[in-house]
Amino acid sequence: MDFSLSEEHLMIQQAARDFANNVLLPGVIERDEKQQFPTEEVKQMGELGFLGMMVDPKYGGGGMDTLSYVIAMEELSKVDASASVVMSVNNSLVCWGLEHFGTEAQKEKYLTKLATGEVIGAFCLSEPEAGSDATSQKTTAIEKDDHYVLNGTKNWITNGSSADFYLVIAQTYPEKKHKGINAFIVEKGWEGFEIGPKEQKMGIRGSDTHSLIFNDVKVPKENRIGEDGFGFKFAMKTLSGGRIGIASQALGIAAGAYELARKYSKERKSFGTEICNHQAIAFKLADMHTQIEAARHLVYKAAWDKDNGNNYDVSGAMAKLYASQVAMDTAIEAVQIHGGNGYVKEYHVERLMRDAKITQIYEGTSEIQKIVISRGLLQD
Ligand SMILES: Cc1cc2nc3c(=O)[nH]c(=O)nc-3n(C[C@H](O)[C@H](O)[C@H](O)COP(=O)(O)OP(=O)(O)OC[C@H]3O[C@@H](n4cnc5c(N)ncnc54)[C@H](O)[C@@H]3O)c2cc1C
Repeated sequence: MDFSLSEEHLMIQQAARDFANNVLLPGVIERDEKQQFPTEEVKQMGELGFLGMMVDPKYGGGGMDTLSYVIAMEELSKVDASASVVMSVNNSLVCWGLEHFGTEAQKEKYLTKLATGEVIGAFCLSEPEAGSDATSQKTTAIEKDDHYVLNGTKNWITNGSSADFYLVIAQTYPEKKHKGINAFIVEKGWEGFEIGPKEQKMGIRGSDTHSLIFNDVKVPKENRIGEDGFGFKFAMKTLSGGRIGIASQALGIAAGAYELARKYSKERKSFGTEICNHQAIAFKLADMHTQIEAARHLVYKAAWDKDNGNNYDVSGAMAKLYASQVAMDTAIEAVQIHGGNGYVKEYHVERLMRDAKITQIYEGTSEIQKIVISRGLLQD
């Protein structure tokens, strides 16, 4: 067993770290405050190859492994989880889904632009009445002549107004329940496709989350992904890998909060000594570091499973469940170590604490991860 990273992985880590510190960090507080999407920064992420890292180079991607992707995700998330969620959705949900299940024509038309970051994508599964229970899709896609007619509302869509291409899940045959669901590629600007107002969020405020409304939107038949009725499986398979991305985002938030807390504890003095010399603070750092290291092992193991053709449903869910808890716990303790300064924006840890919470909610809540894990364990 070799725990060291390869030269290539170390180079990716350094490039992502430099980008996070030089490009993302300067405006991160302002973007959070104004709920401003990192448009220019995301453009640069595309140019540097962060938006299609695992995609085959013939479609404009980086042809890298999942480990490279999670290493880069961790570095960006240490600084700006709003930017890293754009990266995560584009890489692991949109590009991965299209590359693995799209037709050659779909890949040429859509994947190439997404992988190079010329445009970004969105993944649209959740609805007002279909969150954890994604089988209850109320959005319908009814077949008519050479197209489908899409009607309904999607909720909470990341990249909701910034995306150009949307992977939309909808019900075609309600009587078949989840086996009647399809997935489609929908383009921004198509008649009847409206973008709802931006959500006012607690965290990841730089990312744009919207509801989407479809009123008789005509979707050409060639834009259906996979066989008729494959949509639910498509969503589940895609989310299984997506969870590794969110786990690495959580890991990054935790590691970012820890690094800030460690540095602060060596500078701030009380009772005539640096606060890290008080055992209560040193022990907090010990717990944080131990948990982060354990989370990193789970995240890397899930990425390794994916890269080695193993089933990663359980390992990905375990990584997300644990890393998101560590993100939350670490960020809270980082605020505590900063004392009053932890409560104000300029020290960053209050933002990391707000950002951490979402990792326990999206791409399957922690409760849903436990369902996935326990089902996997109980299978014979
Ligand atoms: C900022 C943000 C961005 C998002 N981005 C996207 C996106 O890009 N695309 C997309 O499709 N969705 C997105 N989502 C939606 C997200 O995936 C859902 O919010 C999430 O899956 C939970 O669904 P829900 O909100 O309907 O909660 P509910 O399903 O109503 O759950 C409420 C509570 O009940 C618990 N619960 C539900 N069922 C069970 C059960 N069987 N056993 C135990 N506990 C249960 C849940 O864990 C939770 O604690 C986003 C959400 C947010 C907030």
